[in-house]
Amino acid sequence: MSTPGLDGYTEPWRKPEHDDLAELARTFFTKEVVPHAGRLEKQGHPDREHYLRAGELGLLGLSVPEQYGGGGGDFTHEAVLLHEQTLAGEGSLGIAVHSGIVTGYIRHYGTDEQKQQWLPGLVSGELIGAIGMTEPDGGSDVQAIRTRAVRNGDDYLVTGSKTFITNGYLADLLVLAVKTDQSAKAHGISLLICDLRNEPEGFRRGRTIEKIGLHSNDTAELFFDEMRVPAANLLGGAENLGFIQMMQQLPQERLVIAVGAVAAMQRAVELATAYAKERHAFGKPLLGHQNTRMVLADCATRTRASRIFLDDCIQRHGRGELDVATAAMAKLYLTEGQCEVVDRCLQIFGGYGYTTEYPIAKMYADARVQKIYGGTNEIMRELIARVL
Ligand SMILES: Cc1cc2nc3c(=O)[nH]c(=O)nc-3n(C[C@H](O)[C@H](O)[C@H](O)COP(=O)(O)OP(=O)(O)OC[C@H]3O[C@@H](n4cnc5c(N)ncnc54)[C@H](O)[C@@H]3O)c2cc1C
Repeated sequence: MSTPGLDGYTEPWRKPEHDDLAELARTFFTKEVVPHAGRLEKQGHPDREHYLRAGELGLLGLSVPEQYGGGGGDFTHEAVLLHEQTLAGEGSLGIAVHSGIVTGYIRHYGTDEQKQQWLPGLVSGELIGAIGMTEPDGGSDVQAIRTRAVRNGDDYLVTGSKTFITNGYLADLLVLAVKTDQSAKAHGISLLICDLRNEPEGFRRGRTIEKIGLHSNDTAELFFDEMRVPAANLLGGAENLGFIQMMQQLPQERLVIAVGAVAAMQRAVELATAYAKERHAFGKPLLGHQNTRMVLADCATRTRASRIFLDDCIQRHGRGELDVATAAMAKLYLTEGQCEVVDRCLQIFGGYGYTTEYPIAKMYADARVQKIYGGTNEIMRELIARVL
């Protein structure tokens, strides 16, 4: 389906290889995963087999170097994949976190041994990755985390809890933010790679959290009571670098969210335009009524402008020039745009827009969290205001 307002627009970074990847991803999501959507929503988490299949097709770790089994690409490849996932209406697989965030931490800061040990499994889908920063007492104030890791011989003993962890129910590998120096704030934080495959002693997964949207993706609480983690799993091999590592990676995390936001806007405009052409009221198609035309024109324009801003950010990121404030602007503007566009498009469906039978209803519920996770939009405004 073509996208009104985006016809003829090509991302300035796009090459033929991206088209091949998009085709492969579209086929995988639409033919192999989406048909299971109803069942996955009921079970509240994706199928592990779908991660393995994505790995088999080469769709995981697209930006991981080939020497670790990855695609050897860059963020543009991850962006194409995530865009196609959203366009297909597939929301179970937490690839945005798994490939878009977790592999990035290990790739950028891992020692050679850590990269060898963990990246191939993440690329094949045998390991499902998660990132644990948020705690029950607060997520925005990352410096205030309380989960602590105390050195004990060749290990750390980790005690504390995390909440809202995407992929948390299935996760095999968790990049976990802990305090290694209790007396310091930001400079006392480290990241530990935790192997959760055999449910280690002192580790417990809590309930999967019931949410208003994203029903087929698992979000879980995780508890640690003197869980033993080898000191060799300290990301980067030195203590108290975690806050800097997180601050460096957060712009990419925000870009990942922004990619999903633009794809959702695009899909909403496509669905609403198609509906407005078919549905009749007062003797003519909805698209023949001036208000519907104006609403869709607004939404198509917002989508086009958002796409261009996103592409500028993707190019900056590729050059290593995506600064914190610009990434925050992208996350803020594009997720606010997503919520507005999806809401206005839902209205065009009338009563049907409020029924789960129509995908626009699901998109409405799924959109809301985009303004919350990855740093709330209030925190984004704060980051932007700091450079004014
Ligand atoms: C579906 C889902 C998936 C998630 N996945 C992950 C994950 O994989 N890993 C992970 O670590 N976390 C994850 N999160 C957590 C998410 O990042 C946090 O919810 C978010 O950062 C906000 O933290 P909080 O919920 O503790 O809110 P709080 O920090 O308690 O904030 C509450 C409100 O106060 C506002 N506020 C706070 N500080 C300020 C300030 N200085 N100025 C103005 N307003 C302020 C916030 O904007 C918000 O509106 C996920 C959350 C959800 C819902």
